[in-house]
Amino acid sequence: MKEATNDVYRALLEQFHGQLLLPDDPQYETARRIWNGMVARRPALIARCADVADIQASVRAASAANVPTAVRCGGHSLAGFSTCDGGMVIDLSNMRQVAVDRDARRCRFAGGSLLATVDAATQQHGLAFPAGVVSHTGASGLVLGGGFGWLTRLHGLSSDNVEGFTLVTADGSLIRANSKENDDLFWALRGGGGNFGVVTEFDVRLHPVTSALLLEAVCTGDDISDLVRRWRDFMPDSPDNLRWSLSLRLAPDAANVPIELRGRPAVTQAAVWVGDLKQGEDCLDHLVSLCNPVVIARKNISFLTLQTMADQEFPHGRRYYTKSGYCKTLDNDTIDIMVQSLFNIPSPMTQIELAYLGGAAARVDAADTAFGDRSSPFVINLLGNWSEEFEDAENVSWVRSLFQSLRHSMTPGVYINFMSGDEDDRVLEAYRERWERLVTVKSHYDPDNFFRLNQNIPPQTK
Ligand SMILES: Cc1cc2nc3c(=O)[nH]c(=O)nc-3n(C[C@H](O)[C@H](O)[C@H](O)COP(=O)(O)OP(=O)(O)OC[C@H]3O[C@@H](n4cnc5c(N)ncnc54)[C@H](O)[C@@H]3O)c2cc1C
Repeated sequence: MKEATNDVYRALLEQFHGQLLLPDDPQYETARRIWNGMVARRPALIARCADVADIQASVRAASAANVPTAVRCGGHSLAGFSTCDGGMVIDLSNMRQVAVDRDARRCRFAGGSLLATVDAATQQHGLAFPAGVVSHTGASGLVLGGGFGWLTRLHGLSSDNVEGFTLVTADGSLIRANSKENDDLFWALRGGGGNFGVVTEFDVRLHPVTSALLLEAVCTGDDISDLVRRWRDFMPDSPDNLRWSLSLRLAPDAANVPIELRGRPAVTQAAVWVGDLKQGEDCLDHLVSLCNPVVIARKNISFLTLQTMADQEFPHGRRYYTKSGYCKTLDNDTIDIMVQSLFNIPSPMTQIELAYLGGAAARVDAADTAFGDRSSPFVINLLGNWSEEFEDAENVSWVRSLFQSLRHSMTPGVYINFMSGDEDDRVLEAYRERWERLVTVKSHYDPDNFFRLNQNIPPQTK
């Protein structure tokens, strides 16, 4: 492998415009790391591309030498797919250009962009791209897997808002995928992850959003179960303008949480309203009446504040392990299992995230994009989050064991961007009815499975 990577390095040396980082480079130690501290791999070469030509050269050279290649945008793959041991990483972190067309409400952003980069540029024009809730997440991985966040119920998944992709395919060609060109690939890229090439540019629709009403509250004790049940009953008929998410966890060590409650089982909640302010205030009043909060805060915040308010909770380098699934509804037993699990939760940072999709995301037909079935609106995401390596076994085991006890109440399916690195066996489950079509597209554009460090869809064998 070392010899093969040396061949790639030599092939790139004369033509590369960006940086080629080898393990003895002073920047290598920082450059090799990704967001999840559980993933500590050592690629033999990091090709930090400056432009599309660099990406094409990297793909051609690595493909010719048969070197395993990871593609990295923000490096937030929970599963750790944006790095590898011994192979090459195509690192897009120097390609973060964003161009906004205010009148057309469109923007083009480069394949290394973070959500923060896109938000900063689009907000200058009072426009927003519907994406995730942590601004240091990479836009490419998020959009290619689907992408949901505060605006999903109002404006759909991130991938539902893509008009076109430009990408480098496995043979090094630069092609476009949109409703008129390579339309099967356009379908596959909206949910099919990094399987089909390196996306160099996304062309997306924007929406006029500059602020939001935010309600944050914490409930403890018996109110936890009551609140989750009321939330479950309320969300199916709630307006699209509202996104109300819950986190079951230990009450945080925060200034606004009474000392005697910190570290006790709790549910923290964030309700976000985008739209008419009077209707929003009335809606949030109603939500307050549904819970019995020990802590409550309400404010009108800027969209940029909304998009960054969770950033500190998920810092780079900590240890994370996740398991996730969808439910059509949440029965009381399922809620009780989750609430009970808080009594032996091993880390104060770990959360059971509960989200409700529905809205605009649910009005797109399952067959229209590779993302697939949107008919199970409840998303359960078990997000283990801790600091020390010696705590790995206990934390991973807690997540796995809770997942096993919830599995029977989940519908088949999983959001690929919430999968962990040991869930290869769930990729088929993620795509189900769309699998054959995805395999056909994959076989056409990447017949040798060059792009395989992802939730992989293997091509037909030749
Ligand atoms: C802190 C945190 C918060 C999150 N919040 C949300 C959220 O609110 N909503 C949500 O939907 N998801 C969320 N996620 C999940 C997120 O969507 C995935 O982790 C996603 O893969 C991150 O994208 P990235 O570009 O940072 O990942 P990377 O690790 O860089 O890449 C992930 C995958 O995408 C591929 N890839 C990356 N760039 C390209 C490209 N240009 N072309 C082709 N393939 C590429 C990689 O090869 C890899 O397989 C969150 C994750 C984290 C860690």
